[in-house]
Amino acid sequence: MKAIIVRRGNSHPELAEVPDPLPESGEALLRTLRVGIDGTDHEVIHGNHGENPEGDDYQILGHEAVAVVEDANGTDLTEGELVVPTVRRPPNGTNDYFKQGEPDMAPDGHYVERGIVGAHGYMSELFTSSPEFLVSVPDSFAEYGFLVEPISNSEKAFEHAFASRSAFEWNPQSALVLGNGPLGLLTLAMLETPSSPFERNYCLGRRDRPDRTIEIIERLGGTYIDSRETPVDRIPDAHEAVDFVYEATGYAKHAFETVDALTPNGVGALLGIPSDWEFKIDGGRLHRELVLQNKALFGSVNSNISQFEAAKVRLSEFPDWFFDAFVTGVYAPSEVETAFATGDESIKTVVEFDTL
Ligand code: NDP
Ligand code: ZN
Repeated sequence: MKAIIVRRGNSHPELAEVPDPLPESGEALLRTLRVGIDGTDHEVIHGNHGENPEGDDYQILGHEAVAVVEDANGTDLTEGELVVPTVRRPPNGTNDYFKQGEPDMAPDGHYVERGIVGAHGYMSELFTSSPEFLVSVPDSFAEYGFLVEPISNSEKAFEHAFASRSAFEWNPQSALVLGNGPLGLLTLAMLETPSSPFERNYCLGRRDRPDRTIEIIERLGGTYIDSRETPVDRIPDAHEAVDFVYEATGYAKHAFETVDALTPNGVGALLGIPSDWEFKIDGGRLHRELVLQNKALFGSVNSNISQFEAAKVRLSEFPDWFFDAFVTGVYAPSEVETAFATGDESIKTVVEFDTL
């Protein structure tokens, strides 16, 4: 079958012919429709993140997919049913994190990740999976269901943010998303859905107008903030101190500046994955601010099945125009180079293996 892979020692993706996967007992065979590309794929390609599956000198990329059940293989799935796969799998047999339905809370070594760490991903015509790692979605998700995975990462962050404030009456109204990359824009769209309690949402970038991400921010109803004019710790003076900060820049200073952007009793979620970077901060002041203003700061990665389910509901609340504006390219597997190209004109690209 055709697959988009990265070979060990190479730092570019390529289209290759690889053996068809054979479902083991208890596994179904899935036919891939679409697979989204994100920053993690680029990190895997450049060898900054992840590792090949044991015994293979290549890895099939991709972890944001939507697929059809091709062969249920004795599982209780229905052939023709549409599904979105989760990312983490237990490395050798299962462990408590997976048994509890909380693979997203497993520390390193207690999981592999399809398309990222130690397991093949979904950028191939076919893949196999146990049904417990598949979320059923309606046929209307054939085109954009691959967004359920990235949205689920933010559902987890929202859940943890609310949980961290659940010991008192927290009625957040304002939110600040740091980063206008795909994760930041998706999260802003989530904050702007009709069921969201957030009334005033800001999104930070570092781009000049005209820019398609700024157009999306404003069309969603958010306020664009340029970090070159208004650094994160100045946002309370320029706009307002916010109840919730969602960091998706991977710019390490933002983790600490978040404390200053928060209103008392506010919470900041850190999602970005920066490289090592040493810089000076006034740790004493930040520590004091966290304590005396009852602020919270936490990190969040990956997501569990219930957060995938929440993401399904959220995705169906997005306005129709958003998908056309956000997905800037749909490519055939043979167009791998263009699909992985980056630049200000590209927001979210996707490889299409098949259609319903
Ligand atoms: P991108 O790198 O595409 O987006 C980051 C955005 O932040 C870019 O648009 C960039 O602007 C902007 N940015 C960076 N630094 C600044 C700054 N100083 N001021 C203003 N804007 C800035 O990544 P993604 O959107 O795909 O993901 C965001 C982060 O989250 C990444 O670090 C990624 O690794 C991580 N991630 C974490 C997950 C998790 O579960 N924790 C899941 C998925 C991703 P510009 O484009 O103009 O340079
Ligand atoms: Zn991802």
